[in-house]
Amino acid sequence: RLYNQVIELKGNIRVFCRCRPLNSEEKSSGSPLIVDFDPSQDSELHIVSSDSSRKQFRFDHVFGPHDTQEAVFTQTKPIVISVLDGYNVCIFAYGQTGTGKTFTMEGTPEDRGVNYRTLEELFHISRERKATMKYDLSVSMLEVYNERIRDLLVENGDASKKLEIKQGEGAQQIPGLVEKGVNDTEEVWEILKAGGEARAVGSTNANEFSSRSHCLVRVSVRSENLVGGEVTKSYLWLVDLAGSERLGKTDVQGERLKESQCINKSLSALGDVISALASKSSHVPYRNSKLTHLLQSSLGGDSKTLMFVQISPTAADMGETLCSLNFATRVR
Ligand code: ADP
Ligand code: MG
Repeated sequence: RLYNQVIELKGNIRVFCRCRPLNSEEKSSGSPLIVDFDPSQDSELHIVSSDSSRKQFRFDHVFGPHDTQEAVFTQTKPIVISVLDGYNVCIFAYGQTGTGKTFTMEGTPEDRGVNYRTLEELFHISRERKATMKYDLSVSMLEVYNERIRDLLVENGDASKKLEIKQGEGAQQIPGLVEKGVNDTEEVWEILKAGGEARAVGSTNANEFSSRSHCLVRVSVRSENLVGGEVTKSYLWLVDLAGSERLGKTDVQGERLKESQCINKSLSALGDVISALASKSSHVPYRNSKLTHLLQSSLGGDSKTLMFVQISPTAADMGETLCSLNFATRVR
């Protein structure tokens, strides 16, 4: 059975798919691959089942296991830098735990991801434009866990301070959210590192915990046109979402069940919002989760949205991979 699923570029919403390489365990166990790329073009992939049936998926761009962080950033750059022209921008990494969401967004110290490269580029462009534009950049970092918003940049360990969303003039306000002014990439790296460390506070397994919460970095840009005098404020959100995997049968109780329900609720709320925007629906259900409510003023209107759908290449993950690819077709 062959059927085509086409994800078109509509308006300001783009979807990129990134497939991670095999890890060493998978290499040594000879796990079968199910993702087939067409080397002649970079916008589609096929999922090949054990009976050799193929399903095609199309995206605005597809990145395979050999595509570098730099190649990913080259495609991402035009979207992120538009924040300097006054656009609000949201970038998400969606997918099963272990498929490379954090690798794409944060990266590693040797191989930095979208977050760092973006800030580097924003600083670079601000310097280039300094004769006519003055940009002030600041960074906030927060986490949404079980529908609670937590500031990751609070000093003196008051990480338990809960944040609420207030409806301001136009944009949603988050009173009390720490915003740190930044002037260079070193400062940004230190801030993101401190925020990352704060995420782990109170959890026994930091890595596991981070896969069950959403991590949001907000870059606020105040720009002043030195010629005309206009001042604008815009936001760029860089979001590493909680893992999209469905709950295992053995986990369906207690705290895990609650976490899982919160994750499902917020990821499906995000899917609903983006698909309502893509289909130009008159009602966009922003208020169904903290995540979408937080991002309300940066999703829709003339803001730009990019979703990375992260997938695994192996047969063992096929069920989750198809779920993620189908999620992506919903937000087309
Ligand atoms: P997630 O955040 O989705 O749970 P991670 O980003 O932690 O997944 O990725 C899981 C592991 O796979 C990490 O060790 C990461 O460095 C590695 N990895 C993911 N994507 C890539 C890639 N494109 N190239 C190299 N290593 C990757
Ligand atoms: Mg992660």
